[in-house]
Amino acid sequence: MEKLLEFYKTIGVSADVYNYGEQAFERLKERFEAIDRIAEYNQAKVLAAMQKNHVSVACFNATTGYGYDDMGRDNLERVYADVFHTEAALVRPQITCGTHALTVALSANLLPGDELLSPVGLPYDTLQEVIGIHPSPCSLAEYGVAYRQVDLLADGTFDYESIRAAINKKTKLITIQRSKGYATRPTFSVTQIGELIAFCKEIKPDVLVMVDNCYGEFVETIEPSDVGADMTVGSLIKNPGGGLAPIGGYICGTQECIDRCAYRLSAPGLGREVGANLGLMTALYQGFFLAPTVVAGAEKGAIFAANLYEPLGFRCVPNATESRHDIIQAVELGSEEAMVAFCKGIQAAAPVDSFATPIPGEMPGYDSKVIMAAGAFVQGSSIELSADGPIRPPYAVYFQGGLTWLHAKIGILMSLQKMVDAGLVKL
Ligand SMILES: *Cc1c(COP(=O)(O)O)cnc(C)c1O
Repeated sequence: MEKLLEFYKTIGVSADVYNYGEQAFERLKERFEAIDRIAEYNQAKVLAAMQKNHVSVACFNATTGYGYDDMGRDNLERVYADVFHTEAALVRPQITCGTHALTVALSANLLPGDELLSPVGLPYDTLQEVIGIHPSPCSLAEYGVAYRQVDLLADGTFDYESIRAAINKKTKLITIQRSKGYATRPTFSVTQIGELIAFCKEIKPDVLVMVDNCYGEFVETIEPSDVGADMTVGSLIKNPGGGLAPIGGYICGTQECIDRCAYRLSAPGLGREVGANLGLMTALYQGFFLAPTVVAGAEKGAIFAANLYEPLGFRCVPNATESRHDIIQAVELGSEEAMVAFCKGIQAAAPVDSFATPIPGEMPGYDSKVIMAAGAFVQGSSIELSADGPIRPPYAVYFQGGLTWLHAKIGILMSLQKMVDAGLVKL
């Protein structure tokens, strides 16, 4: 379209970059259709849960103070439990983010003398302090919870032999991270996670399994809770918040685990009875309602990015053609300079703070300097178009989000333009 091309030029995207993008897009139509099918299924799943639980306008009423008998909050938790096919759920603004939700789930279900096992290598950066891999006040280690880890094999698969050897009589909880996080290992499919859970439970039937589901929600038609996870945990500032939730985290799981989580989150004896919704219910319900399509858009953006960058010689994880199990796209750019250029493009395409320039800086919970590009309606939201990465080899930028596929597309084209402008790639 002539007019569109003209407009792209006014925002600094050249005809060469635009046309290069269009060629990639042409190749992707069939894949995008398959993503829409999954989104349709998940949309129906969320809708059915809302209808079954009689979501009504009364659910959107604000509560304050203690929040006793908060029917909007309690019903939202039933909706989540139904979508994840679990006995119970804890979903509320008092869970401040994904790290907090995971911390609650771990510390509620691990006691002094217990051992925590990660059979999938090093957990996400922020959890390293939670567990005490990096010594930190109030870590699980400080409370006498031991930690053991089995790394993945060189090809990114599970080291079943070593996992069998690592499970012992103290092993109380096994934590499995679905998404690659800031690593360049593959993200696991829900089916793979199910196989790992079955293997662990065969060795030790009463072991609890928690899955860090961050960035994975609604990418497939099943979730880790469908394949045996006792707790499935994530952030509302990512996929299930649908871009509308301004805060929150969720834990879906067995009644026993969730009860303990509620006691840990508030206080023993109080549990889920307290926790006012502060008027956030409309955003949390509506965000969850939109999440399947928002996730589909973000996934298309990730695939588009891989199909632009891989042919230019940058290693992409996942690669341009393989199947996807989260919305993260890692692009190994090979230098700090390229990371900065890429992020500048994402920032320039943002609806908020597009005039800002991202620069690498220190971040709490992270080991090396981190660069972040995000101009989001919800601060730091990574279901909105964003890119970030630690400044360390292989200088991978982690691209994710986009509330709409079209916005993701504009952002990726902008990133490529900045790379071209800086002389870092030639089309
Ligand atoms: C983002 C993320 C977390 C932490 O969630 P926050 O909301 O940023 O605290 C944990 N694990 C994984 C895999 C993540 O991607």
